[in-house]
Amino acid sequence: MTNVRFSNVVTGAGRYAPSPSGDLHLGNLRTALLAWLFARSTDRRFLMRVEDLDRVRPGAQARQLADLAAIGLDWDGPVIRQSERLPRYQAAIDRLTDAGLVYECYCTRREIQQAATAPHGPMGAYPGTCRALTDAERAAHRADRRPAALRLRASVTEFEIVDELHGRYRGQVDDLVLRRGDGTPAYNLAVVVDDAAQGIDQVVRGDDLLSSTPRQAYLASLLELPVPQYAHVPLVLNEAGIRLAKRDGAVTLADQLALGNTPEQVAAALACSLGYPPLSPIELLDSFTPAHLPMEPWILDENGLLQRNRCP
Ligand code: GLU
Repeated sequence: MTNVRFSNVVTGAGRYAPSPSGDLHLGNLRTALLAWLFARSTDRRFLMRVEDLDRVRPGAQARQLADLAAIGLDWDGPVIRQSERLPRYQAAIDRLTDAGLVYECYCTRREIQQAATAPHGPMGAYPGTCRALTDAERAAHRADRRPAALRLRASVTEFEIVDELHGRYRGQVDDLVLRRGDGTPAYNLAVVVDDAAQGIDQVVRGDDLLSSTPRQAYLASLLELPVPQYAHVPLVLNEAGIRLAKRDGAVTLADQLALGNTPEQVAAALACSLGYPPLSPIELLDSFTPAHLPMEPWILDENGLLQRNRCP
């Protein structure tokens, strides 16, 4: 791999942006540790943003933040919550609407799936059904009281981004949803608005989000917002090669504590999974080099993290 190292800046920021839909698992903690290391090792601020626009489980937010602190991560300034920033998202939608880049979409999920799986349809992309509705058709849908989502009128089908770990990456852009039928701003919009508003110029997150990144970068360019640097890091998988889930054993910090492991031991095991000695986050900072990151997913065995993933 080529030498990947973010340039040193003092004004920028990195972030971790958990969705409070449940407890963080070891994969989430490892991604958070990496986001913290990338930011702190380049003298950036590290910000915490709770993405609570949907899938909120009571109590999850407080536990997530407590777990992150327990493994030795800290962040600058107050925690930002997306549910408190709705006017910002609407302002971005208004701006795109004024530029003629937004349309109402009345399709149900089922209709989209059926159209998208039609022969020769673009794989997984919104097929554009509502792009050119006539005024009469739109009025009929409104009379039917179907909730309208708002979609972006994209003028490209692909967009290229540069990722510090994956290099140049070209991916699909479609007429993505900006606001859902129930009025909730869409993740892709909120993330772009917030990263820019918070001065975040370094986005480190799981590589399951790599394929969404061209959409987000395209949206940022339409809103004339700077596109951040990206690093999409490998996920943690179970032995079957599937993304970690609750049923995979002792996957949360609470599970590990119940087994008698300390938060320090969990943090040390995460360091080991990154190819480092069993150090705390702050001790790791001195030697952290993104170029040496293992690019394969980290596989956990079903008996829990600490038995099989010992440091060399
Ligand atoms: N909230 C998203 C998640 O927990 C992460 C979004 C991001 O890092 O851009 O999967």
